[in-house]
Amino acid sequence: MAEQNSTILPRGVPQQAFQDAVEKFRALLGEDSVLLRDEQLVSYRKIMMPKPEEEFAPSAALTATTVEHIQGIVAICNEYKIPIWTVSTGHNFGYGTAAPHDKGQVILDLKRMNKIIEVDPVMCTALIEPGVTYQQLVDYIQEKGYKLWVDPPAPSAIVGPVGNTLDRGVGYTPYSEHFLFSCGMEVVLANGDVLRTAMGGVKGANTWQVFKWGYGPYLDGLFTQSNFGVVTKMGLWLMPEPPVYKPFAIKYKKDEDIEALVEMFRPLSINGIIPNGVVLVGTLYEASATVRRSDYTTEAGATPKAIIQRIRDEHKIGAWTAYAALYGTKEQVDVNWKIVTDQVKASGIGEIVTEEQAGQEVAFKYRADLMRGNMTMTEFGLYNWRGGGGSMWFAPVAQARGSETLKQVQLATEILNQYGLDYVGEFIVGQRAMHHIIDVLYDRTDLDERKRAHDCFATLLDEFAKQGYAVYRVNNVYMDRVAEIYGPEQRRINQMLKRALDPNGIFAPGKSGITV
Ligand SMILES: Cc1cc2nc3c(=O)[nH]c(=O)nc-3n(C[C@H](O)[C@H](O)[C@H](O)COP(=O)(O)OP(=O)(O)OC[C@H]3O[C@@H](n4cnc5c(N)ncnc54)[C@H](O)[C@@H]3O)c2cc1C
Repeated sequence: MAEQNSTILPRGVPQQAFQDAVEKFRALLGEDSVLLRDEQLVSYRKIMMPKPEEEFAPSAALTATTVEHIQGIVAICNEYKIPIWTVSTGHNFGYGTAAPHDKGQVILDLKRMNKIIEVDPVMCTALIEPGVTYQQLVDYIQEKGYKLWVDPPAPSAIVGPVGNTLDRGVGYTPYSEHFLFSCGMEVVLANGDVLRTAMGGVKGANTWQVFKWGYGPYLDGLFTQSNFGVVTKMGLWLMPEPPVYKPFAIKYKKDEDIEALVEMFRPLSINGIIPNGVVLVGTLYEASATVRRSDYTTEAGATPKAIIQRIRDEHKIGAWTAYAALYGTKEQVDVNWKIVTDQVKASGIGEIVTEEQAGQEVAFKYRADLMRGNMTMTEFGLYNWRGGGGSMWFAPVAQARGSETLKQVQLATEILNQYGLDYVGEFIVGQRAMHHIIDVLYDRTDLDERKRAHDCFATLLDEFAKQGYAVYRVNNVYMDRVAEIYGPEQRRINQMLKRALDPNGIFAPGKSGITV
């Protein structure tokens, strides 16, 4: 019989009660699905956050494969007041990985619950379980010979649509806003009910994956970035493969060019001429696909401007590189290509690079892969920039206006440099809003740097909040702080919902700053 990792218990749960619950979990799931020993929990303890691993160590992990398993787990958790932290594929890198919000919470790992229930090639929809990865979905679609694309985030193959959508993640094809392209959920609630949202409640309906709204209040949003239930199935829309796909880059030399280029791209995005999430990549983010900081300096602290300029010159990287793509019939793409190239020429700045011109350029290749939903791992190069395994995404939302860009970049760079770290950032323009994505990269093994990274992130949150900016998503350490920024009314209503839906607080206490 597996021994319990005896030192760690969920908060407020006595040892005996925990052991009794563990016996019930074993009876329900089988011995192999209740993980307790340190070596079984190693993967859940790997974090990139600027705190000791112990602060997020789970007491146990459970793997479930059926809805009935989850209902059973929920009943036991309610009986013993045991908090569970649900993950689907568990690769929320830079946002907490698979670690729970608090030490001792039990991980509910759904990666083995990985059935593709249906892919409909006519309606271009899928219904999947939480453990399904993008790679699995692509393999299935190819096996069936369907002409459909998926829309992965940058870690693509190893992560999954359910976890990514529930954390309101983004990709790079025209279906990049994942929650927008999800349709219908099945959720196990804390009272054991199995809720099917929207059309899923209608007996015999075949519209669950095609009509999002159903009747009455729209509930799906309640189960994203929240702790109100465990999602066990999700519908999503798949993009029909277009006859022509034309990715391109535009390289801009000067830092200030970003203002003009956002002004140029916003109308193209809102008008649907460029239908995908346009990414405007800063120098070091772009460089990280092939360059390490240690190639240039081993000095601690922020990378000097002169080195950043050398990297630009030696690797022919712009101050900003815009990546976008056109999709459609040849005629549509030709017309839109003319519109785009005319605008770039008229702007007087920016050098267009086509796929043919880019050849084997690593950064272009992986961006082109992402914008058509191919699997690629190149973006993990970010972790080689500084090394040491520390990463936190700082992702404030901005209006898609040129005047917002330099202001945010300058503020972020100033704060990061003050703490000896680099601005490694990009903007993703989705019509009216931009996600400004900054990877706060630091060496986790250097305790001084770890402390600086921690304080730096807190300062970023506070200083951006003073200017009216807030992040769209954050790692476990700062969830409370971000909830504060969104104001007391939102906190109160989230707490009211939590008390109504999960009175014992068994689901992910602390997620998005929400507790009973
Ligand atoms: C180099 C790099 C690039 C990245 N680029 C992107 C990017 O382009 N876009 C992007 O969005 N992210 C990006 N990420 C962040 C992250 O890796 C992805 O968002 C990833 O998809 C999240 O992990 P996952 O899919 O395994 O989700 P999970 O870790 O399984 O889930 C994420 C969270 O959702 C909740 N959750 C999961 N499953 C359930 C469930 N069944 N019921 C209730 N709640 C649940 C939990 O809070 C969980 O912590 C990147 C990371 C790296 C390292």
